[in-house]
Amino acid sequence: ATPTAVMVGTGVGATQGVLIKGGQALESAHKVNCIVFDKTGTLTIGKPVVVTTKLFKNMPVKDFYELVAAAEVNSEHPIAKSIVDHAKNITQDEQNNPSWPQAKEFVSIAGHGVKAIVQNKEIMVGNKKLMLDHNIAISVEAEEILAEAENMAQTGILVSLDGEIVGVLAVSDPLKPDAKEVISILKSMKIKSIMVTGDNWGTANSIARQAGIETVMAEAQPETKAIKVKELQNSGYTVGMVGDGINDSPALVAADVGMAIGAGTDIAIEAADIVLMKSNLEDIIIAIDLAKKTFSRIR
Ligand code: ADP
Ligand code: MG
Repeated sequence: ATPTAVMVGTGVGATQGVLIKGGQALESAHKVNCIVFDKTGTLTIGKPVVVTTKLFKNMPVKDFYELVAAAEVNSEHPIAKSIVDHAKNITQDEQNNPSWPQAKEFVSIAGHGVKAIVQNKEIMVGNKKLMLDHNIAISVEAEEILAEAENMAQTGILVSLDGEIVGVLAVSDPLKPDAKEVISILKSMKIKSIMVTGDNWGTANSIARQAGIETVMAEAQPETKAIKVKELQNSGYTVGMVGDGINDSPALVAADVGMAIGAGTDIAIEAADIVLMKSNLEDIIIAIDLAKKTFSRIR
């Protein structure tokens, strides 16, 4: 394509909220035949809400949420934010001031959850892996609640106090309204869609099923997403990657075309070649169409 055609292409993109960072991005986009999607905040809306709370101890819900919020308020994870929001509703007093104890020795364990000392007790909030890594037994009852949540495409979160599971939460983060249609259009364009997520297999498979994605990689470490992109490239694919998180930035850089969700983190936006300013998935199709038009017009 001529420089003028590329300029026109990127210009048209910009008017539609598709920010294309240069001609190389557009050129790669017209050859894409495989797209790797992050789950949370990319395929899903990314604003999880707590929909279930089950306590196993004779503990007032308010006391439980004070401890959980004290730990999670230190985390940047969207799940932590949803838990803190929910805790605000439950724990606030008449003046709407949530009064949480101070957490000490807070640690965030990437892809697993959080750990802290609150009121001289060790609290952990996170997934099964977090509990198993700390030798905490998960009861049959807790397992059942987790499985039920995962079946409904929700994420189950365990809470332990001093080495014992005291409660389970379920958070729901629904699919974006256009996800299913976009995956189906990509399929008709002979572009393969893959989902890679740090979330558990049960939830990941449920969300993938809803979206119409057949290939899933769950319980992925942050490095895994970039490794997956490189594997696909080595087997001959021109790979697009769509993501919103800090976790996604290595994969966005590795991909032939990294596409960041506009509402995502600055680090993802910087790492990407294309920014979807409206944060919808339809704009992936717009970007690819634009690239195809730009690069077929001038041959
Ligand atoms: P994703 O790729 O879905 O954004 P992450 O790798 O960030 O996933 O996290 C994987 C899983 O680890 C989450 O689904 C959740 O179960 C658990 N997790 C991570 N951070 C937290 C947190 N702050 N509180 C509770 N659970 C967490
Ligand atoms: Mg994400």
